[in-house]
Amino acid sequence: MTSYLIGLIGSGIGPSLSPALHQREGDHHGLSLLYRRIDIDRLGLGADAAGELVRGARRFGYDGLNITHPCKQTVLPHLDGLSEDAALLGAVNTVVFDGDRAIGHNTDWSGFAQSFARGLEDVPARHITQLGAGGAGAAVAHALLTLGADRVTLVDADLGRAEALAAELVGRFGVRRADAAAPDRLADLLAGADGLVHATPTGMATHPGLPLPVGLLRPGLWVADVVYRPLDTELLRHARALGCRTLDGGGMAVFQAADAFRLFTGREPDAERMLAHLTTL
Ligand code: NAD
Repeated sequence: MTSYLIGLIGSGIGPSLSPALHQREGDHHGLSLLYRRIDIDRLGLGADAAGELVRGARRFGYDGLNITHPCKQTVLPHLDGLSEDAALLGAVNTVVFDGDRAIGHNTDWSGFAQSFARGLEDVPARHITQLGAGGAGAAVAHALLTLGADRVTLVDADLGRAEALAAELVGRFGVRRADAAAPDRLADLLAGADGLVHATPTGMATHPGLPLPVGLLRPGLWVADVVYRPLDTELLRHARALGCRTLDGGGMAVFQAADAFRLFTGREPDAERMLAHLTTL
């Protein structure tokens, strides 16, 4: 039986669903796939330990790694090569050990892109307002513009962060494709937007609540959330009650895992089966 040893490096990864998703998919392919958490909090380490941990994992015979917050950027200088996407985004969530080389990939953006194409395929995307310009926000905005959205306006409590991401996106996709705004402009922006993408931690079990005044939602606006614990967030419940089309964060979590599984094993994952598995976790 072919065996794989995969790790997840990050902080606060106890509740991660990646081990269950990868191991169950490995079972379906007749693989012996062991997926271990390498939690920097439990090890008493910081984000700057990413390189040491990647080198250690390679020595201990790991075949690949997923990398999550706060190591997606600190790991970059410790890799031997990057996929084109990872280089463009300046962030890595998947490392594949290829002989002596550690190659970084980014399946966050492709995961959101596939989830969006599956769940909100035919929605208008002339103007999208995106709340949150952090790690997930960078991947999601890249996906929206790659899928052909005309313009994404980034709103973040940290305006400088939104402006920096907008500048990167303009450099990659062209002028007028992205801009930044302060949260006090949300009402105006949403009045004219086709859709709202939410990419802040608000609504997670550990950060309950709503990321914006619910009165800013309106029928006809589509709403996509990246939060996936829980899958059905307060934001999505309010949006559905108004008749809005919605997309939860489960698809992004599954498709990024499916893309990583393909990179680790060379096998074609069954993403629909993984989505069904996610709803049981
Ligand atoms: P992050 O800390 O890198 O970024 C969050 C950003 O949100 C920050 O820039 C912060 O200033 C901003 N913010 C927070 N509250 C805000 C508010 N009320 N209004 C405006 N801006 C606000 O975090 P991240 O890594 O980008 O993660 C964000 C969320 O995405 C988390 O819930 C995470 O679980 C989720 N996520 C989901 C997937 C998936 O596969 N579905 C993948 C990655 C991250």
